[in-house]
Amino acid sequence: MKNKGDIFVISAPSGTGKTTLVRLLLSRFPTLSFSISYTTRLPRPGEVNGQHYFFVSEKEFKKSIAKGEMLEWAKVYGHYYGTPLTFVQEKIAAGKDIVLDIDIQGAQAVKKKMPEAILIFLIPPSWNELQRRIISRSSDSPEEIKKRLEAAKKEILAAREFDYIVINDVLEDALKELVSIIQATKARANKRWPEIKRLLQA
Ligand code: 5GP
Repeated sequence: MKNKGDIFVISAPSGTGKTTLVRLLLSRFPTLSFSISYTTRLPRPGEVNGQHYFFVSEKEFKKSIAKGEMLEWAKVYGHYYGTPLTFVQEKIAAGKDIVLDIDIQGAQAVKKKMPEAILIFLIPPSWNELQRRIISRSSDSPEEIKKRLEAAKKEILAAREFDYIVINDVLEDALKELVSIIQATKARANKRWPEIKRLLQA
């Protein structure tokens, strides 16, 4: 029987460099699929519908929730974000690994529904660095920046509930740690068992 795929959930306070790391991780692991979320926020410059997010209206989003189409959803900084359930189910059933770049509430909700999900928390090397990174994101308004800094403080406390914590100081080192987590997950005895059985049968 084919092994089910793994779900890697990556969460972080904003400004931790999560988007960059996830992008690098996906390029390093072409077998990983990215779960494209639905959101009601407007696209930022350069963001493409169906690639970074599915940009939908609040009405459409709420309809999807009512129809049970979301594995999890959350309101983050005033906008709705949600993970499509069918996509996740289909990929893991086909033995494909997926990466979810979602907020902390979302990660906790996924773990409740799918305890086998691997939760990874990214943290910045220092508070000053986090502040610097959030402020340097020119597309966010001062109001948005203030909200994100306040939220970040609370969010960091949630790190203890995660399976792994990766400190994003030097990007390449953080990426290596992420890669090791994925490799270690794939090398778990229960994951390798079908290979062992084939080896014994041969
Ligand atoms: P941004 O607006 O900067 O793209 O994302 C804001 C936050 O929403 C980030 O922490 C991002 O990970 C999170 N997010 C993106 N998609 C989802 C989702 O489907 N569910 C949840 N719960 N959070 C999401």
